[in-house]
Amino acid sequence: MKKVLVINTGGTIAMSVEEGTESVKPIDEQVLNQNLPYLSKYADVVMKDMANLPSPHITPAIMNQLRQFIENELINDIYDGIVITHGTDTLEETAYFLDLTLPVTVPIVVTGAMRSSNELGADGPVNLISSVRTAIGPESRNKGVLVVFNDEIHAARYVTKTHTSNVATFQSPAYGPIGSVMKKNIHYYHAPLEREFYSINHGNGNVPLVKAVTGMDPAWLTFLLEQNIDGVVIEAFGLGNLPPTILPVLRQLIEKGIPVVMVSRCHNGQVQDIYGYEGGGQQLKELGVIFSNGLNGQKARLKLIVALQQTTNPKELQNCFEL
Ligand code: ASP
Repeated sequence: MKKVLVINTGGTIAMSVEEGTESVKPIDEQVLNQNLPYLSKYADVVMKDMANLPSPHITPAIMNQLRQFIENELINDIYDGIVITHGTDTLEETAYFLDLTLPVTVPIVVTGAMRSSNELGADGPVNLISSVRTAIGPESRNKGVLVVFNDEIHAARYVTKTHTSNVATFQSPAYGPIGSVMKKNIHYYHAPLEREFYSINHGNGNVPLVKAVTGMDPAWLTFLLEQNIDGVVIEAFGLGNLPPTILPVLRQLIEKGIPVVMVSRCHNGQVQDIYGYEGGGQQLKELGVIFSNGLNGQKARLKLIVALQQTTNPKELQNCFEL
């Protein structure tokens, strides 16, 4: 029988609704172990708890601890797959961080639940079973970190949480899921073309994410000039355009050697240097803004944090964001 390691980190999948207060929180430590009899139909499952955190408490430093935890577990080559349970709020960030930093062939699947363990229609058990089934599939090898949720298989790079409460919350807006968990088998119809790997020692990096809005006050960014930051990610309008009022401060940040990475507020497409008006993409390119390639803001931020451990050279950083 195939062997799968399930690493628990917390989230709603490990929580229950407290009778009386109706508050959702970690109550019963053994909630996930209750799934072991069902899981054992598919694989020899070992469960280990790394943490029991709501995912808003997760940090890049904790993601790095998880990376190290997985690396240590894989040293002896006993597992055919790894499943990580995680809160859904920041699940896409941890999945992408691991995707960038774990160069492994063993399937790594991240999952969670939108409904806690004792809610009607709890989705945790089925997501866990689907994840174990995905993790043991030979066709899941070499596909990077996967997110399995609601019978769909998504690539960590593209998936995002799209709904506050619906069980179909995880979507890959630009490209769709790469596979499905069927009744009898798992079925892939896409494969991620590119995989990148960054060798890192830590998860630290002070990189704020700023969203462009109409009439934004440049002072929001001037503030950053005084801070000890390693970079900034800015979510720009459309194809990659910004209000002209913030250009002087962007110039100052770049002259100070702070990498400024631009993504779009749009869910689909990439930023490009097309528009020639003030604040348009062409001017931003000339200024030295690094154009990202379809990642959302939170993922571009993590990529900058890990890429900065490899290089601080703006041209090399631009190359990283081309992948
Ligand atoms: N707030 C919860 C968390 O991310 C949501 C969930 O797990 O679904 O921890």
